[in-house]
Amino acid sequence: MNKKIYTSEDHGLISRQISKNALQVISTLTNAGYEAYIVGGAVRDLLLNKAPKDFDIATNAHPEQIKRLFRNCRLVGRRFRLAHILFGRDIIEVATFRAESNDDNAKQDRKVDDDGFLVRDNVYGTIEDDALRRDFTLNALYYDPLHNIIVDYTNGFEDLKSGHLKLIGDPAKRFREDPVRMLRAVRFEVKLGFALPQDLVDAIHQMSYLLQTVSPARMFDEVIKLLLNGQGNGIYQQLRHYHLFGQIFPQTERALIELGNPKDHLLIAALNNSDNRINEGFGASSYFLYAALLWEPFLDEYHVLISDNIASHDASIIAADKILRKQQDYTMIPKRISSQITDLWKYQFRLTNVKARKQKGGIGKILHHPRFKAAYDFLLLRKDAYESEEVVEAANFWKKTWERNADAQQK
Ligand code: ATP
Ligand code: MG
Repeated sequence: MNKKIYTSEDHGLISRQISKNALQVISTLTNAGYEAYIVGGAVRDLLLNKAPKDFDIATNAHPEQIKRLFRNCRLVGRRFRLAHILFGRDIIEVATFRAESNDDNAKQDRKVDDDGFLVRDNVYGTIEDDALRRDFTLNALYYDPLHNIIVDYTNGFEDLKSGHLKLIGDPAKRFREDPVRMLRAVRFEVKLGFALPQDLVDAIHQMSYLLQTVSPARMFDEVIKLLLNGQGNGIYQQLRHYHLFGQIFPQTERALIELGNPKDHLLIAALNNSDNRINEGFGASSYFLYAALLWEPFLDEYHVLISDNIASHDASIIAADKILRKQQDYTMIPKRISSQITDLWKYQFRLTNVKARKQKGGIGKILHHPRFKAAYDFLLLRKDAYESEEVVEAANFWKKTWERNADAQQK
């Protein structure tokens, strides 16, 4: 691959667009005689006039050498040693150039993650190796803010300018090395609005099953990155479209397609809701997302138990336990989150239970319960999805009660 250099006339970036802290790290490394660049998502997003999430740096200095240059530096990472330079709450991640490990090593890496043992060392490389091990050409650009140039080994600059999402190397091989790249492809397709080329679509169709080999811990993080980033609904639609969703949430996929047409109204309402919250600068919690993702299979299981004459409270606990446990084979769900999900689901039956409202002090007790607000928000989504008459009635009741209570407190 030939190396191309783009100057400020070509790329139009100015160092003022780069975080001060990242600039300082680059200056320190450069003054000590090393090469250092802004890489990855930040360069891509700046060129597309989007605000970068963070500024990552790549350098030929090794982690120990980096550490010697900064007082505020911490080395992290089991699989790959990285340096974190701390500026208060801002963390600049500095990675040493590295080469793609071959297939055997990649398998060994995965074992490392699952078992938690470090059995191999880092494979450092040249800047060119580092460019070629990245996923997409438009993610493999190196920006040197001191000389104001972009260094490009993969034709990423032109691909970015012409709206092409091109994987580096052979798609089948790169997806086999790391199946998460299929999910990244979908994320960038939606985030950047660049269509996936046909060779990637074909490779995804053939290899989607490989997602099951990714460790559940990593998959949990990936799902959050996919669905809690302000474009969750668009990404969900594409995951369904490419038959990737069912590889991550097989129970949900089965429950959704049972009637022939997807019963995913609640899930879509939840995703739209968290997209809006995130885009307005509020947070959205992962337990609420997972509660929505697994609601349909949970409800199916609950109804099976009810028809076996199991009492509602017990049925909700048994069904939650079963569905969450099965999901752990695909995405880990931390203990704290699974108990929050179970509580949220259990509370739904209290809100739809007409008798509970009629007990003396019943309404006040429910309304002032610490879990009420989240459970009520979830009930409103079920109403938006027209789950049943009973749900619509309960949601209307609690909406009126909640608003009346809020008015009373203002007075
Ligand atoms: P975002 O803006 O969502 O953070 P990003 O491109 O910065 O997108 P990161 O996960 O932060 O994504 O990764 C930083 C860079 O590391 C990527 O731009 C890419 O060059 C490289 N990278 C990340 N994950 C992979 C992977 N699975 N395979 C190859 N390269 C990867
Ligand atoms: Mg990033």
